[in-house]
This record gives sequence, C-alpha cells and structure tokens, in this order.
Amino acid sequence: MKQATNVSDVSGQGRLTRVFGRMMQKGLLAHAYLLAGASGAGKEALALSFAKLLLCENPCLGKDRLIPCGICAGCLKFDHRTHPDLVILRPQGAMIRLDQIRCLQRDLSFPPLDSQRRVCLIIEAEKINLPAANALLKTLEEPPAGNHLILTATSVRTLLPTIVSRCQVLACEGLSVRALLERIKLEGLCPPDAARFLACFSEGSLSRAEDLVEQEVLKVRGDLFEFLKTSRGKALLRLFVLSKRISGKRENILLAVQIIRTFLRDLMVLKGLRVKDMKERQEPGTHILFNPDYENGLQAISRRFTCQDLAEYCQWLDKVEWMLDRNISRDFLAESVLIFWIKDLV
Ligand SMILES: [Zn+2]
Repeated sequence: MKQATNVSDVSGQGRLTRVFGRMMQKGLLAHAYLLAGASGAGKEALALSFAKLLLCENPCLGKDRLIPCGICAGCLKFDHRTHPDLVILRPQGAMIRLDQIRCLQRDLSFPPLDSQRRVCLIIEAEKINLPAANALLKTLEEPPAGNHLILTATSVRTLLPTIVSRCQVLACEGLSVRALLERIKLEGLCPPDAARFLACFSEGSLSRAEDLVEQEVLKVRGDLFEFLKTSRGKALLRLFVLSKRISGKRENILLAVQIIRTFLRDLMVLKGLRVKDMKERQEPGTHILFNPDYENGLQAISRRFTCQDLAEYCQWLDKVEWMLDRNISRDFLAESVLIFWIKDLV
C-alpha cells in the first residue's frame, strides 16, 4: 500500500497537521507524541508527515502553518527513505520486543547524523510487550537531546498508562468520507460505482473498508437490494432463502442490519428531498445518497413506504440489534428484519 508522506497528502488530518506545524513554529514541541486513533485512520501517514517536517532543513510558512520545503536535502532523503535520522520501529511478528527497544536506545545515544534532530517512529505501539514497554519509559521521559519520538496506537487504553502519561496525546479522527472515497478509488478497492457506499460505510477507516471488501460486503449489499426490489410472486420464497443465508451467524445479521440502515437513510433522503434539490447538490464525490448506484431502484421502493413506516422500522432494527446479544432465535431475528420489505406484497 502506498504511504502518504506529505502534509498535504494526509487528507482528513488537516487539523492535527496545523496544530503540529504551529507548535513547531512556536518552539513548543514535546519530545514524545502519541497519535491515537482507529486502525486505518491515517496515523502512520500523519506520523510520517510530522517526521518530514521535523527533518526538513528549511521549513516554510504555508497558508497557516509550517510545511516542509520539499526540495532540501532533508526532504529529498526523507522521500527516498534514506534519511539517517529517521528511525522507524514496527512490531516484529506479533509484538515489539525488548531487543528492538535496546537497539533504539543505542541509536538515540548518539547525536543525530545529518540534521539537527532525529525522529523515531514507533508504529503500532500497542503491540509493545511488557519488558520492552518498561525499558521504553525512561527514553520517553527524557530522550537524549535532539531526539523526537512519535508513537501510533489504536487507543490510549491499549497502552500502559505510564507510557501514555509521558507522551503528548493527539487524537486522530477517522478520514472524512470524501478523503476515504479518494483513498478507496486510489487503491482500487471496489468497482467505482460502489465506492461511495464503501466510503460511507467504513467509519473513516481505510482498513475497515479493506476488511469489509474481504467479507464480501458488496455482494451482501447487492443481495439485500435485490430482495428489497422483489416482486409480488417471489417475495416469500426470496425471504426464506435470504433469511437462511444471513441467520447462520450473529455477525451476518448485524452486517445486514447495518447495510439496510444505509438503504433506509437513502429512502428517507429521497422522500424528504425533491429531485431538483438533489441534482443541485450532486458535486463530484459528494453525492447525497450513500448508495447512489441504486438510486433508480431506491426511488421506486420509496414510493411503497411512508416516512412513518420507515421510522418505525428503524426502531425495530434498534431492537433487533439489542436482541442479537440475547438468547433469541437468529432465524426469527433475520426473518423479522426482512419481512418489512415484502409485507405489502404477500
Ligand atoms: Zn525541506
């Protein structure tokens, strides 16, 4: 996977890059940062963008913050990953081990080789094992002069409190839908017409989008949508076939409910907005529907239900999610989720 390395590449994390650039400008840098956020939120790309700024020999003032110049020796070496003062430490296998931390501490004991600073990234710091974490504490508290440490982790709760307390914590929000849509298209994760759905459905996380594709979320969505469009004669048969398919596992029912919620949301939008209003808002990448590729079918379905029907069904889905964690028949729950869509047909 391509890694973003420029501040401008880290779409969705603009606020933090501005904060970091301003702190650097004012000479208020902490010696250890922890970037905490869900997997796929762009923490590593953000850590790299901070590192590039720190290693740039001639950072310049952008619109509202410091940015790397992009042309100095530091920037060029960074871009080629040959900068001797950039150290990146990742889990070896399942964890970050003591010998890796010892090795890092040895590196840090020497002055930076090429620039005024050395930057050390510890990626997936939640995988650090206990002896390694304890060894790291002293370095985090007082790294040798000229060294900056940037850790990434999915949550502060996954780390020892003593590590967290020694770092300045920056919370990474997920990517915006627009930023995630760009990344999904760039990575070619799914057919272009389904990219908007995947971006809306992935909670700002590229890795969640990747996981969903592996779980065949688009096929499940397609099957559900075919069912929603079902015609009178085949409605019951289709209900039983689909219900059997999704009732096997709790996760399957939950995924179906979550996908149906995106259809419901789109139906509400279609019922509440005139088509003229929607066309006016259809800028590239900002389609108003979560499932724009199904717009025609959704329009037809929306005529079969009132807003009240849809709102009551939405409340039923809340109850189904609650019941999924109780001892209630999954067959019953799956059928009860689906029957709403054909009750006017049978
Ligand atoms: Zn530079």
